[in-house]
Amino acid sequence: MRIARQMLDEIAAHAHEDAPDECCGMIGTRDDSATNLYRARNAEASPLRYVVHPQDQFQIMEQMDDCGEELGAIYHSHTKSPAYPSQTDINLADGWPDPLYVICSIADASPDVRAFAIRDGRVREVALDVA
Ligand SMILES: [Zn+2]
Repeated sequence: MRIARQMLDEIAAHAHEDAPDECCGMIGTRDDSATNLYRARNAEASPLRYVVHPQDQFQIMEQMDDCGEELGAIYHSHTKSPAYPSQTDINLADGWPDPLYVICSIADASPDVRAFAIRDGRVREVALDVA
């Protein structure tokens, strides 16, 4: 997936704003390029897990539809752990295997953003093509 550096910065900014809770949102893509970032509420409001608020999810999917975008990725933050899917993340992805999972860790001074495909309980890192 191609993504602008500015969009990664926006995800990190969102992560810092919602800390210590995890933040989450969605990334709309066209032709495997990230075109829009959509913030969502974390329905769990938790520092350990996230659930994209169902109402936000519905609205964002409509907006993506209007923009001719696909749901390219779901993003969330890790405030105290590395940018790697937790077992909770892997379980959550079970019902939704198509989008990539972008995780932004703000555990260290400089944010680390990485993307993963999570299918059938298996995690595979996917390179982000940062423009
Ligand atoms: Zn996580």
